[in-house]
Amino acid sequence: MTAHPLPRRLAAPPATWSRDVDVVVLGSGAAGLSAALAARPVRTALIVTKDTLDAGSTAWAQGGLAGVLDPSDSLENHVRDTLVAGAGLCDEANVRTLVAEAPKALRYLMRLGAAFDPSHEGTGPALTREGGHSHNRIVHSGGDQSGAEVQRTLDENAVAAGVEVMDRAFALDLLVGTNTAGGRQAAGVRIARIDAAGDVVSVGVVTARAVVIATGGYGQVFASTSNPPAVTGDGLALALRAGLPARDIEFVQFHPTVLWRGPDAKGQQALISEAVRGEGAILFDGAGERVMLGVHPQEDLAPRDVVASAISRRMASAPAGVDDHVFLDATHMGERFYTRFPGITAACRDAGIDPATDRIPVAPAAHYVCGGVVAGLDGRTELPGLYAVGEVACTGVHGANRLASNSLTEGVVAGTRVGRDLAWELPEDVGWTEEDGDPTLRLVDPDRRTTVRTTMSRHVGVLRTPEGLDTAGAALDLPVDSAGWGRGAWEATNLLTVARSVVAAATTRTESRGCHRRTDHTGPVDDWLVHLDVRLDHRGEVVVAGAPTAAARAVGVASTASTVPPDPPDSREA
Ligand SMILES: Cc1cc2nc3c(=O)[nH]c(=O)nc-3n(C[C@H](O)[C@H](O)[C@H](O)COP(=O)(O)OP(=O)(O)OC[C@H]3O[C@@H](n4cnc5c(N)ncnc54)[C@H](O)[C@@H]3O)c2cc1C
Repeated sequence: MTAHPLPRRLAAPPATWSRDVDVVVLGSGAAGLSAALAARPVRTALIVTKDTLDAGSTAWAQGGLAGVLDPSDSLENHVRDTLVAGAGLCDEANVRTLVAEAPKALRYLMRLGAAFDPSHEGTGPALTREGGHSHNRIVHSGGDQSGAEVQRTLDENAVAAGVEVMDRAFALDLLVGTNTAGGRQAAGVRIARIDAAGDVVSVGVVTARAVVIATGGYGQVFASTSNPPAVTGDGLALALRAGLPARDIEFVQFHPTVLWRGPDAKGQQALISEAVRGEGAILFDGAGERVMLGVHPQEDLAPRDVVASAISRRMASAPAGVDDHVFLDATHMGERFYTRFPGITAACRDAGIDPATDRIPVAPAAHYVCGGVVAGLDGRTELPGLYAVGEVACTGVHGANRLASNSLTEGVVAGTRVGRDLAWELPEDVGWTEEDGDPTLRLVDPDRRTTVRTTMSRHVGVLRTPEGLDTAGAALDLPVDSAGWGRGAWEATNLLTVARSVVAAATTRTESRGCHRRTDHTGPVDDWLVHLDVRLDHRGEVVVAGAPTAAARAVGVASTASTVPPDPPDSREA
């Protein structure tokens, strides 16, 4: 039990307006836009998005989208690579559906106007390979501007198709009604229109036959993240408050090298791509010793999760007193760095670093979340009328570790499947029964967001210790006592809700699997081939279900040792 339970609804002023549509989509990344676009021909579709259209992760994606387009590749290869990366926790049926539909989704995007980089032969898009893929199957655009091209394509097509967009509109909570079978059913969503500063302009209700959550991941729960500021886990927190389960949320992928901009740096950090190490750059610790020497046969080019954990271990030993970053030395490239990596050069210069002459300070950062709201690849959740797609959803296609470039593909495939289903048939029309805003509710003070994020990065990062998880649990028992409202307080409340849920799941899973690594359990344990579902109970306490039996858990405890887990044999860059 915590001293401060989490709120079951977000405090907000009473609603002063209402709208009614067939389908309301929360979020305007690849998943939400795909859903709205596919539903639109025969449905009224409204996208509610809390910032500008392109504020989510989609626009930042670099590498590209995975799908089998090369005849010498096969669907079976892509399935196998995905299952290996997922470390035993993938839903194989959903993986097979995703992989089978991925080529169609990529051709669909091209038909919508996405300009993927062409192959040298000019016979189709160029296909590249990323960590964990056995064949070249990643389409990309503008070199490393793939997400921006997907965002542009879907934005333009959705608007041209008549999808209505309500921007600077913050989705607060679900409206729930009762269907003819007497069960709970989603009936709409409470929305706050906000200004650029995040202050409330007005609050209203959007009633809809279908509510699609497409709010992305929760990278901003960590102080150090590659995710943009809008990615605060709002949709996951909304679903938890509505009583839905979140699955596999302990599996957070960390990118090994983002630009470290000092202990007080906030918000999104620039990625220092693997390609820099591909050009021969080398990682050094604060004492000037090599980080990857003797760690892995591929040294600095080891898979992403291996490099991230090696850096974290080295930082934990604080060489020369430096415990929060290491250094990437690419100075052998000299001024060639500027032309090879213009974007990274700009980010470094912005931080006062010249990569041709200076070592670049880097640290691992939260990058992608494999888990989320439990949903099928058709977006259906356990609550009729409520759908979840994209990074906010847990469809089981990523298991315990995502295969690189499968996530944008998943967003387009799942989003389009949901939209198409809703075009064919809408759920029953139900009225909502929830009462309006309650002025006595309290939120988390926006100033506490720093505590949440720092705690998560410090104690729930790449390498998790039982002591660190306990410390995080205690530090996150923060008061929920702020009487004000607005984007800052709503996001802080959502961040705390998600953070406590992640800590609960990470504490319960006493093994190291995929991207969840604990220092006290040296590798995967067969009995832990189960999913953990986290829910918020009626008191606002986080509860975890799904752990193996006590006997099975003893197997995990028996393997306890105060050593750092070795890199699992199936570690892949993803
Ligand atoms: C730097 C970077 C590089 C990446 N590279 C790749 C790659 O190469 N290939 C790949 O497959 N994946 C990559 N990923 C991951 C991929 O970009 C994401 O998983 C994917 O874009 C998620 O899409 P989405 O539609 O689910 O969510 P997002 O694109 O994150 O969109 C979420 C939307 O929800 C909105 N929103 C959030 N909260 C609310 C609220 N309360 N009310 C209303 N709206 C809300 C946001 O403003 C946003 O519009 C990368 C991610 C990052 C950060």
